[in-house]
Amino acid sequence: METKTPDIELRSTLTCPLCGHAETETMPTDACQWFYDCKGCAAVLKPKPGDCCVYCSYGTVPCPPIQLGDGCCS
Ligand SMILES: [Zn+2]
Repeated sequence: METKTPDIELRSTLTCPLCGHAETETMPTDACQWFYDCKGCAAVLKPKPGDCCVYCSYGTVPCPPIQLGDGCCS
C-alpha cells in the first residue's frame, strides 16, 4: 500500500535581489515566511506585492500551499 502524499518540494533556493546571494532553505509546510534575512548582505527580504511569502518572490520553488494549488494567506 502506498500512502498518497502530495509531491511537494520543500527546499527552495532564495536569491537576494540586492546582492545576488543564493541560499537553499527548507520551507515550513504550515506557515508562510514573510521575512527572510539575507545571509549575504543582511538585508531583510519581504514578499513582492501579490506574493504570499519570500519563497514565492525570490525562491526557485514556491511555497507548499501554492504547490498544492491553494492560495495560502489571502
Ligand atoms: Zn543580500
